[in-house]
Amino acid sequence: MEATLTFLGTGTSMGVPTLGCTCAVCASAVSPDGDARNRRTRPSALISWEDHNVVIDTGPDFHAQALRENLRSVDAVLYTHGHADHILGMDDLRPLTFRHPAGIPLYADDSTADTIERIFDYTFRKQDRYATSARVTLNRLSSGPGTEVSLFGARFQRIPVTHGRQTITGYRFGSAAYLTDLNEIPTESLPLLADLDVLVLDALRRQPHPTHSTLDNSIKLVEQLKPRRAFFTHMSHDLEHAAIDAMLPPHIRLAYDGLQLTFDITAP
Ligand SMILES: [Zn+2]
Ligand SMILES: [Zn+2]
Ligand SMILES: [Zn+2]
Repeated sequence: MEATLTFLGTGTSMGVPTLGCTCAVCASAVSPDGDARNRRTRPSALISWEDHNVVIDTGPDFHAQALRENLRSVDAVLYTHGHADHILGMDDLRPLTFRHPAGIPLYADDSTADTIERIFDYTFRKQDRYATSARVTLNRLSSGPGTEVSLFGARFQRIPVTHGRQTITGYRFGSAAYLTDLNEIPTESLPLLADLDVLVLDALRRQPHPTHSTLDNSIKLVEQLKPRRAFFTHMSHDLEHAAIDAMLPPHIRLAYDGLQLTFDITAP
């Protein structure tokens, strides 16, 4: 079954332009003569098929992203981890949840679910619940091997990835995988990433970083995993879109906000 992946945001936690920065990439991101692909909101992806919309992460830019993409309904949200740039937009789901009597299901591993419950405690508390809180149900994903969620005929497999000292959650769905915020992919996860059409991968910048992959490291991971196409995301202002894209092999591209691609979501 054909599905569309829309990059809602492709920036790192600070976004591009980065507040207070006057570098050429940040300037290009906001200048009318600049390259709009350098403007990167916080990382998130929308997976759409038939009339279903599943979002991976709701960061602080979710409201603007949903307006930009004319996103009028969300059926489920899958979370990767509990950092601010991935969860702070959860509350913006509220108007979209009111028409779901049973609530929109959220999926998160234990540590992410703990963080979401703590930050949005008024949403999840059993007593004195804030009346117009988001109608969401938080489902905890097991950290054991083979964890997956079935949504509307598609399977979303949890792919453990290494993000500094944490093991966080990436997702594979059909012939595509979305792996943000990682500096390494554990050996056990590699077989789960075979035969991909689309691989979305963290590529923060050129300089090493303790919790994120560099451009060179992500190119190596693509060479190792051999997806048909790869798209880099979670990028900082160190990566100028046109210049970096021009030096990458044709099957690897920098993603940009609003980029859409199609893939088979029911591929085995
Ligand atoms: Zn992040
Ligand atoms: Zn900058
Ligand atoms: Zn993170």
